[in-house]
Amino acid sequence: MSSKLTGTVALVTGASSGIGAATARRLAEHGAAVALVARRKDRLDDLAAEIEKAGGTALAVEADITDRSQAEAAVQQTVDRFGRLDILVNNAGLMLLGPVVGADAEDWDRMIAVNVQGLLSTTRAALPHLLHAADDGPRRAADIVNISSIAGRVAWGGYGVYNLTKFGVNGFTESLRQEVTKRHVRVGVLEPGGVDTELGSHNTSEVRDAMIDPFYAQTEVLAPEDVADGVAYMVTRPRHAAVSELWIMPTDQA
Ligand code: NDP
Repeated sequence: MSSKLTGTVALVTGASSGIGAATARRLAEHGAAVALVARRKDRLDDLAAEIEKAGGTALAVEADITDRSQAEAAVQQTVDRFGRLDILVNNAGLMLLGPVVGADAEDWDRMIAVNVQGLLSTTRAALPHLLHAADDGPRRAADIVNISSIAGRVAWGGYGVYNLTKFGVNGFTESLRQEVTKRHVRVGVLEPGGVDTELGSHNTSEVRDAMIDPFYAQTEVLAPEDVADGVAYMVTRPRHAAVSELWIMPTDQA
């Protein structure tokens, strides 16, 4: 295996399923050593073994990124093992839908903790290493890809706090891009439409019946690999080209 990412190290949060797992596989295929971060260690171990069997390099890192010290430790473990960090994919996320009226405030706290605070903690811990990689890494550039959503562009009833987190991710991404782009850390946002993953499964059966299952029944949604291809595209551009925003939709999602 050899390609544009040979010699680089990538950390993917939420690598135990869905988009994160597909992204980790894809980046490993492109030659990156990948740190797989999530809470379900058994899943991460299986994926690491699969990547290694295919000739890649992977490290399973069990961490709950809503705990800042665990997010920091995940970054440190990656750097301790591989000696550097070139690419951060902030992918871990949670989508709990439903009306604001009568909502369970715990659901809001959990979404904000993963989608916003987890992303911030991981980014903050990774930035010194990414800036160093941009100075003297194999590509003399580094990347942060934040997995936002179409829900970071468009608001819908019932998506309120999920919309809040993803609109927030978009704003933070652009602010950080402006801060570090001249130091060759490229910061971009990827906004998928519907993807076939476990994301909807954490909702109540009422929400799944009313808001999620009908959409998936009527729509030929994206595969996680479609999004992984987008991440790979973003992080394999030449040093002078930065993809700041990539919006990938199922063709038949209006
Ligand atoms: P999945 O539910 O399949 O994956 C979510 C991942 O996040 C899992 O690996 C999970 O791992 C991880 N995760 C959740 N909480 C934590 C935590 N506290 N600490 C560490 N990891 C955590 O969903 P997707 O693959 O669909 O979601 C990935 C991203 O894509 C999310 O940000 C989502 O908002 C976004 N997205 C998804 C769309 C879709 O239609 N599926 C559309 C647009 C955006 P574990 O439970 O093992 O910790």
